Amino acid sequence: MSAISVRLPDGKSLEMAKGSTPLDVAARIGPGLAAAALAGRIDGRLVDLRAPLPGHCALEIVTARDPQGGEVLRHSAEHVMADAVKRLFPDAQIDVGRSDHSEKFQYDFLVDEPFSPEDLGRIEKEMEKIAGEKLPFRREVVSREDAIALFRRLGEDLKVSRIADIPDDQDITLFRHGDFVDLCRGPHVQRSDQIGAVKLLEVSGTYWKGDESGPKLQRIYGTAFASKKELKAHLAAVEEARKRDHRRVGSELGLFALDALSPGSPFYLPKGTVVYNELVSFIRDLYPKYGYHEVITPQLFRSELFKVSGHYEKFHDDMFWFEGADEGEELGIKAMNCPGHCHLFAMAKKSYRELPLRLAEFSRLHRNERSGTLTGLSRVRSLAQDDAHIFCEPDHVAQEIQLFFEMVAEVYRVLGLEGVEMAVSTRPEAFLGDPEDWDVAERTLIDAVETAGFRCGVKQGEAAFYAPKVEADFRDVLGRSWTLATIQIDMALPQRFGLRYVGRDGELHQPAMLHRAVLGSLERFMAIYIEHTGGDFPFWLAPVQVAILPIAERHVPHASGVRERLLAAGVRADLDDRSETLGFKIREAETQKVPLMLVIGDQEQESGTVTPRLRHSKGSKARGGAMEVGALVAQLAGAIAARRADALAGPD
Ligand SMILES: [Zn+2]
Ligand SMILES: [Zn+2]
Repeated sequence: MSAISVRLPDGKSLEMAKGSTPLDVAARIGPGLAAAALAGRIDGRLVDLRAPLPGHCALEIVTARDPQGGEVLRHSAEHVMADAVKRLFPDAQIDVGRSDHSEKFQYDFLVDEPFSPEDLGRIEKEMEKIAGEKLPFRREVVSREDAIALFRRLGEDLKVSRIADIPDDQDITLFRHGDFVDLCRGPHVQRSDQIGAVKLLEVSGTYWKGDESGPKLQRIYGTAFASKKELKAHLAAVEEARKRDHRRVGSELGLFALDALSPGSPFYLPKGTVVYNELVSFIRDLYPKYGYHEVITPQLFRSELFKVSGHYEKFHDDMFWFEGADEGEELGIKAMNCPGHCHLFAMAKKSYRELPLRLAEFSRLHRNERSGTLTGLSRVRSLAQDDAHIFCEPDHVAQEIQLFFEMVAEVYRVLGLEGVEMAVSTRPEAFLGDPEDWDVAERTLIDAVETAGFRCGVKQGEAAFYAPKVEADFRDVLGRSWTLATIQIDMALPQRFGLRYVGRDGELHQPAMLHRAVLGSLERFMAIYIEHTGGDFPFWLAPVQVAILPIAERHVPHASGVRERLLAAGVRADLDDRSETLGFKIREAETQKVPLMLVIGDQEQESGTVTPRLRHSKGSKARGGAMEVGALVAQLAGAIAARRADALAGPD
């Protein structure tokens, strides 16, 4: 009998009989692993424990501890949910389920009456019961005819139609647990009790195969984990993400609004405008130190510019175009600053003495995205980047990249962004230019990132077709990863625009060009930062920095005086002189996430002082002692000038 060789993650190989399954391999390794196994994995693809191995292979056994273990659990929970529905609603027809890499699974049903929330509760209970029955999942390969006959006999007409969609050359597999049978390729857990905890989340109406003329189905969403503890942690994280959703926080704090009349184009409200402008000022203030020159280039360009840059062809559908007043004039609204900056470079003769030339711009850009794909500030039509293009001598590229990452480090430190990971994206399968140039450019980027003191990962094949890039990925408080800063070597635009400078040798040379952004798009950055901070901005960035809360009417004159002194020192201070209770005013300032409150009563009025109350302090710390107004103003102005996260520095 021929044997197959199965390589294990520790490098050892096992000789197994032909036709062995991943479960046989797990059993050979040990009974503990066999009991805990949920699936196998070959070449990154999950395989069912009971499906015969394809031949010689490298196999991993997936348990609940594996990041992909949850996928197997949730997929198996789909079957258990369908079983529970059939037990409670025998006339229901099952369609298909789906689970992706998220923590959700779903299944569609054809029923007479939509499911109610109470129904969901009953289905969930029934699922727990099925899990408790410890039913083994069994795999069967059947002929197409037998599968059709089986589901026809069961009255599952939707399933019968689904069988027709399976390609002829594909095996038809059934999975059974208890009396329930479904058409599926797997993989599934061994027994229903391996699904430790389930929660049904919601139900909504949908159409069969998305066809509005077809039957209307009920789609139930749920989630499942190996243990109650993991489920609880997940539900808490989902709730936290919901609370921090930037659209929700943006509306609660009055930062921005969106309207169908201009899809994906935020209306920044006064408070959101403060945050936006403060972010721009922060970056702008760093420009002299890092040698940037800010420019403002046109919003509209004749299409010739984009023909030269190549965007007319490659990016045409993503831009807005229209006719100008002149005969045959076609104009495009800029979607990026690079073509304008290249043209600006070319408008006057350049010498090596003017290089590196670092041109920065915060102009608004417009991209013609379909309204259905837009979300909050994360995906928009109207945006601005903290954009810049660096033109330098080719052998200065590494040093420019290094300087850029020093700037990135400074920006992230002030914004309190930790957990940043750098990665170089290398050339994709289809790319422009010479592979050797790419190799050199990729190596240059990696070296520069490492010299700037960061560890550098590699994102294989993820670069744009025209140039490699480095991305700084930031992990937020919810553990999600976002790309913020990027720098990219451009090997095409200097060529297309025929850019030249007079070199040290008196000859004309082509400069190197870098595209870079620290925050990326301000819109997307605000979305990420609002969710990361929950709207609890550092003191220097908070739209309202100080809430002045007089206890009674008679305290208003002193309170107004304090406000004037704060405003004069550049502190954003609001006075709440409504005749509400102090408790009410404090709660409201807390909800609005104002970092510092000044309560003004008789004592403060008489002594001409203020008593600061920090939003984040509790109990006795909430009220520090009374302070001279002048001393407080000086402290706050200092915190703003230094862009400090906390209003009041020093020991308390
Ligand atoms: Zn399945
Ligand atoms: Zn650019």
